[in-house]
Amino acid sequence: MKHFTVAIIGSGPSGASTAFHLGKAGIATVIIEKETLPRYKTCGGGFVNRGKKDMPFDISSVVEREFLKVETYFNNREKCYLSEKDKPIITMIMRDSFDHLIVKKAKEFGVTLLENHKLKSIVTIDGKSILKTSQQDISADFIIAADGVLSPTAKMAGWTKDTRKLIPALEYEVEVSSEDFERLSKMFVLI
Ligand SMILES: Cc1cc2nc3c(=O)[nH]c(=O)nc-3n(C[C@H](O)[C@H](O)[C@H](O)COP(=O)(O)OP(=O)(O)OC[C@H]3O[C@@H](n4cnc5c(N)ncnc54)[C@H](O)[C@@H]3O)c2cc1C
Repeated sequence: MKHFTVAIIGSGPSGASTAFHLGKAGIATVIIEKETLPRYKTCGGGFVNRGKKDMPFDISSVVEREFLKVETYFNNREKCYLSEKDKPIITMIMRDSFDHLIVKKAKEFGVTLLENHKLKSIVTIDGKSILKTSQQDISADFIIAADGVLSPTAKMAGWTKDTRKLIPALEYEVEVSSEDFERLSKMFVLI
């Protein structure tokens, strides 16, 4: 059975970024991901400038568009707040390529990626944590649960009480005419 100092469940931005920094520090790290990368993720893809400037490497290869202006509507569109800056306020990315880029950067520091490996359970044998996945067992000294909002790992670790306040979210990607695209793609709008 392969052993790692740290096993991270999930290759989203939190898991992949943690892996990047651990790999850079020379710590033996594995990412366990249930999907095959690049994987689609439901997301608006709006990346705020504060996050972008904290990225430890250039992400321009995955940037779709940048916005210097953001319109935010309140109170059933009664009020509108416009913010405008000389640097992009929001950078648009697609999560499949963005998340995959971070994983690729982590791999450059020696991080192991086990994709198509779904974490099924965690058991402790002789003080060692064994992660049972759909393909193989892995042992690790530390486990980081970065498996998203539903986090099956957190549930396995005993956080079973659901304290979320649920807000339904729908995402739909639609194709629009080039004129509509030209008009709508000028500004980032929050309603
Ligand atoms: C509709 C919608 C729109 C959003 N829009 C925005 C936006 O515009 N801007 C923004 O900043 N945020 C947005 N978010 C929030 C953003 O998507 C999350 O904050 C972000 O994805 C969290 O990243 P993460 O790395 O923690 O988890 P995730 O990105 O969810 O990654 C978790 C990973 O864990 C893997 N995984 C899960 N279970 C297992 C398992 N058992 N074994 C192995 N792997 C597993 C999953 O496959 C996944 O790859 C949006 C969210 C939604 C739902």
